[in-house]
Amino acid sequence: MRWAIISDIHANLQALEAVLRKADSVGWDRMICLGDIVGYGAEPNECVELVSARCEATVMGNHDAAVLGLADTSRFSVAAGEVAQWTAGRLSARNRRYLRDLPYSMEFDLFEIVHSTPEDPPAWHYLLSEFDAAALYDSFEADLLFYGHTHVACAFRRSDEGGVSRLEPQSFSPAGGSRYIINAGSVGQPRDGDPRASFVLLDTREQRVEFYREQYDIEQAQRRIIDAGLPRILATRLSHGS
Ligand code: ZN
Repeated sequence: MRWAIISDIHANLQALEAVLRKADSVGWDRMICLGDIVGYGAEPNECVELVSARCEATVMGNHDAAVLGLADTSRFSVAAGEVAQWTAGRLSARNRRYLRDLPYSMEFDLFEIVHSTPEDPPAWHYLLSEFDAAALYDSFEADLLFYGHTHVACAFRRSDEGGVSRLEPQSFSPAGGSRYIINAGSVGQPRDGDPRASFVLLDTREQRVEFYREQYDIEQAQRRIIDAGLPRILATRLSHGS
Protein backbone atom coordinates (compact mmCIF):
# COMPACT_ATOMS: atom_id res chain seq x y z
CA MET A 1 0.00 0.00 0.00
CA ARG A 2 1.32 3.43 -0.95
CA TRP A 3 0.03 6.36 1.07
CA ALA A 4 0.53 9.85 -0.35
CA ILE A 5 0.63 12.37 2.52
CA ILE A 6 0.21 16.07 1.81
CA SER A 7 0.06 19.00 4.22
CA ASP A 8 -0.22 22.78 4.50
CA ILE A 9 -1.54 23.51 1.02
CA HIS A 10 -2.52 27.04 2.04
CA ALA A 11 -4.74 27.75 -0.97
CA ASN A 12 -1.80 27.47 -3.37
CA LEU A 13 -3.48 25.73 -6.30
CA GLN A 14 -0.41 25.74 -8.53
CA ALA A 15 1.65 23.90 -5.91
CA LEU A 16 -1.17 21.47 -5.14
CA GLU A 17 -1.65 20.58 -8.80
CA ALA A 18 2.09 19.99 -9.23
CA VAL A 19 2.18 17.70 -6.17
CA LEU A 20 -0.84 15.72 -7.38
CA ARG A 21 0.75 15.30 -10.82
CA LYS A 22 3.97 14.06 -9.24
CA ALA A 23 2.12 11.72 -6.85
CA ASP A 24 0.12 10.31 -9.78
CA SER A 25 3.32 9.72 -11.76
CA VAL A 26 5.07 7.82 -8.95
CA GLY A 27 1.87 5.99 -7.95
CA TRP A 28 -0.25 5.96 -4.79
CA ASP A 29 -3.20 3.98 -3.43
CA ARG A 30 -4.59 6.21 -0.69
CA MET A 31 -4.08 9.92 -0.04
CA ILE A 32 -4.43 11.87 3.19
CA CYS A 33 -4.03 15.53 4.13
CA LEU A 34 -2.61 16.89 7.39
CA GLY A 35 -4.57 20.16 7.34
CA ASP A 36 -4.22 23.87 6.55
CA ILE A 37 -5.84 23.57 3.14
CA VAL A 38 -6.55 27.31 3.24
CA GLY A 39 -4.90 30.54 4.44
CA TYR A 40 -2.12 32.61 2.75
CA GLY A 41 -2.96 31.73 -0.87
CA ALA A 42 -5.58 33.02 -3.30
CA GLU A 43 -7.48 29.87 -4.30
CA PRO A 44 -9.10 28.38 -1.19
CA ASN A 45 -12.23 26.95 -2.82
CA GLU A 46 -10.31 25.23 -5.60
CA CYS A 47 -7.91 23.68 -3.09
CA VAL A 48 -10.64 22.44 -0.73
CA GLU A 49 -12.44 20.87 -3.69
CA LEU A 50 -9.31 19.11 -4.97
CA VAL A 51 -8.28 17.88 -1.52
CA SER A 52 -11.77 16.63 -0.73
CA ALA A 53 -11.91 14.82 -4.07
CA ARG A 54 -8.49 13.17 -3.69
CA CYS A 55 -7.98 12.60 0.02
CA GLU A 56 -9.93 9.98 1.93
CA ALA A 57 -9.03 11.64 5.21
CA THR A 58 -8.00 15.15 6.28
CA VAL A 59 -7.38 16.60 9.72
CA MET A 60 -8.10 20.17 10.83
CA GLY A 61 -5.32 22.76 10.65
CA ASN A 62 -5.16 26.04 12.59
CA HIS A 63 -5.81 28.11 9.47
CA ASP A 64 -8.81 25.94 8.57
CA ALA A 65 -10.10 26.47 12.11
CA ALA A 66 -9.36 30.21 11.99
CA VAL A 67 -11.41 30.68 8.83
CA LEU A 68 -14.36 28.99 10.60
CA GLY A 69 -13.92 31.20 13.67
CA LEU A 70 -12.82 28.15 15.70
CA ALA A 71 -9.23 29.19 16.45
CA ASP A 72 -7.75 32.12 18.28
CA THR A 73 -6.07 34.34 15.71
CA SER A 74 -4.48 36.78 18.17
CA ARG A 75 -1.09 35.17 17.54
CA PHE A 76 -1.50 35.29 13.77
CA SER A 77 0.63 37.77 11.84
CA VAL A 78 -1.27 40.76 10.47
CA ALA A 79 -1.06 39.25 6.98
CA ALA A 80 -2.34 35.85 8.14
CA GLY A 81 -5.26 37.45 9.97
CA GLU A 82 -6.15 39.47 6.90
CA VAL A 83 -6.14 36.39 4.67
CA ALA A 84 -8.23 34.42 7.18
CA GLN A 85 -10.92 37.09 6.95
CA TRP A 86 -10.67 37.29 3.17
CA THR A 87 -10.95 33.50 2.94
CA ALA A 88 -13.90 33.34 5.33
CA GLY A 89 -15.81 35.73 3.08
CA ARG A 90 -15.12 33.67 0.01
CA LEU A 91 -15.47 30.00 0.96
CA SER A 92 -18.52 28.27 -0.50
CA ALA A 93 -21.07 26.83 1.95
CA ARG A 94 -20.10 23.32 0.86
CA ASN A 95 -16.39 23.90 1.43
CA ARG A 96 -17.08 25.52 4.80
CA ARG A 97 -19.04 22.39 5.81
CA TYR A 98 -16.17 20.18 4.67
CA LEU A 99 -13.69 22.08 6.86
CA ARG A 100 -16.07 22.21 9.82
CA ASP A 101 -16.41 18.41 9.87
CA LEU A 102 -12.65 17.72 9.97
CA PRO A 103 -11.34 15.83 13.01
CA TYR A 104 -8.24 17.04 14.89
CA SER A 105 -6.44 13.71 14.65
CA MET A 106 -6.92 10.23 13.17
CA GLU A 107 -5.55 6.74 13.71
CA PHE A 108 -4.90 4.21 10.98
CA ASP A 109 -3.55 0.66 11.32
CA LEU A 110 0.11 1.63 11.07
CA PHE A 111 0.21 5.34 11.81
CA GLU A 112 -1.56 8.35 13.26
CA ILE A 113 -2.00 11.84 11.81
CA VAL A 114 -2.38 15.30 13.36
CA HIS A 115 -1.75 18.84 12.11
CA SER A 116 0.18 20.14 15.12
CA THR A 117 1.01 17.90 18.10
CA PRO A 118 -0.76 14.78 19.40
CA GLU A 119 -1.13 15.66 23.11
CA ASP A 120 -3.47 18.62 22.51
CA PRO A 121 -4.04 19.29 18.78
CA PRO A 122 -6.22 22.43 19.09
CA ALA A 123 -3.52 24.14 21.18
CA TRP A 124 -1.55 24.36 17.91
CA HIS A 125 1.88 23.81 19.45
CA TYR A 126 4.88 23.76 17.12
CA LEU A 127 7.01 20.62 17.10
CA LEU A 128 10.38 21.87 15.91
CA SER A 129 13.19 20.16 17.80
CA GLU A 130 14.17 16.74 19.10
CA PHE A 131 13.40 18.10 22.58
CA ASP A 132 9.82 18.90 21.54
CA ALA A 133 9.55 15.47 19.93
CA ALA A 134 10.93 13.57 22.93
CA ALA A 135 8.11 14.89 25.11
CA LEU A 136 5.40 13.66 22.74
CA TYR A 137 6.06 9.95 22.24
CA ASP A 138 3.71 9.04 25.11
CA SER A 139 0.87 10.93 23.43
CA PHE A 140 0.35 8.47 20.56
CA GLU A 141 0.38 4.71 20.15
CA ALA A 142 1.58 3.90 16.63
CA ASP A 143 5.19 3.57 15.50
CA LEU A 144 4.66 6.40 12.98
CA LEU A 145 3.06 9.80 13.47
CA PHE A 146 2.71 12.24 10.56
CA TYR A 147 2.23 15.95 11.20
CA GLY A 148 2.63 19.36 9.54
CA HIS A 149 2.14 22.94 10.87
CA THR A 150 5.82 24.03 10.90
CA HIS A 151 6.24 23.83 7.10
CA VAL A 152 9.64 22.19 7.67
CA ALA A 153 10.05 18.70 6.21
CA CYS A 154 11.98 16.46 8.61
CA ALA A 155 11.62 13.43 10.88
CA PHE A 156 12.42 12.46 14.46
CA ARG A 157 13.43 8.98 15.49
CA ARG A 158 13.24 7.49 18.96
CA SER A 159 15.36 4.36 19.15
CA ASP A 160 14.41 1.44 21.38
CA GLU A 161 17.00 2.74 23.87
CA GLY A 162 14.95 5.95 24.09
CA GLY A 163 17.29 8.48 22.44
CA VAL A 164 15.62 10.94 20.05
CA SER A 165 17.40 12.27 16.98
CA ARG A 166 16.38 14.59 14.16
CA LEU A 167 16.59 13.25 10.61
CA GLU A 168 16.96 15.35 7.48
CA PRO A 169 14.14 14.95 4.94
CA GLN A 170 15.68 12.03 3.10
CA SER A 171 13.93 8.78 2.30
CA PHE A 172 14.47 6.06 4.90
CA SER A 173 13.33 2.62 6.02
CA PRO A 174 11.91 2.71 9.55
CA ALA A 175 14.02 0.55 11.87
CA GLY A 176 12.26 -2.09 13.96
CA GLY A 177 11.84 -0.99 17.56
CA SER A 178 12.12 2.70 16.66
CA ARG A 179 9.23 5.16 16.55
CA TYR A 180 9.08 8.10 14.18
CA ILE A 181 7.43 11.52 14.07
CA ILE A 182 7.47 12.70 10.46
CA ASN A 183 6.77 16.17 9.12
CA ALA A 184 5.48 16.09 5.53
CA GLY A 185 6.58 19.70 4.92
CA SER A 186 4.32 22.16 3.14
CA VAL A 187 2.79 21.93 -0.33
CA GLY A 188 1.93 25.60 -0.64
CA GLN A 189 4.29 27.60 1.59
CA PRO A 190 7.54 25.78 2.50
CA ARG A 191 9.61 27.46 5.22
CA ASP A 192 12.71 25.30 5.18
CA GLY A 193 14.62 27.31 2.60
CA ASP A 194 13.55 25.11 -0.32
CA PRO A 195 10.72 26.81 -2.26
CA ARG A 196 9.63 23.60 -3.99
CA ALA A 197 6.37 21.94 -2.90
CA SER A 198 6.85 19.16 -0.34
CA PHE A 199 5.04 15.87 0.27
CA VAL A 200 5.72 12.37 1.59
CA LEU A 201 4.93 8.83 0.48
CA LEU A 202 4.68 5.91 2.90
CA ASP A 203 5.12 2.55 1.17
CA THR A 204 4.02 -0.07 3.68
CA ARG A 205 5.07 -3.04 1.54
CA GLU A 206 8.57 -1.73 0.87
CA GLN A 207 8.65 -0.23 4.37
CA ARG A 208 9.90 3.12 3.08
CA VAL A 209 9.18 6.73 3.88
CA GLU A 210 9.97 8.87 0.83
CA PHE A 211 10.31 12.66 0.85
CA TYR A 212 9.55 14.54 -2.37
CA ARG A 213 10.13 18.15 -3.50
CA GLU A 214 8.43 19.32 -6.66
CA GLN A 215 8.92 22.46 -8.77
CA TYR A 216 5.77 24.41 -9.55
CA ASP A 217 4.79 27.68 -11.21
CA ILE A 218 5.63 30.00 -8.31
CA GLU A 219 5.17 33.15 -10.45
CA GLN A 220 1.62 32.16 -11.25
CA ALA A 221 0.81 31.57 -7.55
CA GLN A 222 2.35 34.97 -6.75
CA ARG A 223 0.30 36.71 -9.44
CA ARG A 224 -2.92 35.20 -8.04
CA ILE A 225 -2.07 36.51 -4.53
CA ILE A 226 -1.27 40.00 -5.80
CA ASP A 227 -4.30 40.14 -8.14
CA ALA A 228 -6.53 39.12 -5.21
CA GLY A 229 -5.26 42.15 -3.29
CA LEU A 230 -3.70 40.00 -0.54
CA PRO A 231 -0.54 41.16 1.30
CA ARG A 232 2.43 41.21 -1.06
CA ILE A 233 4.73 39.57 1.49
CA LEU A 234 2.73 36.35 1.05
CA ALA A 235 3.68 36.32 -2.61
CA THR A 236 7.36 37.22 -2.23
CA ARG A 237 8.08 34.66 0.50
CA LEU A 238 7.12 31.84 -1.87
CA SER A 239 10.29 32.57 -3.90
CA HIS A 240 12.49 31.99 -0.86
CA GLY A 241 10.70 29.09 0.78
CA SER A 242 10.67 31.01 4.03
ZN1 ZN B 1 0.27 25.80 7.88
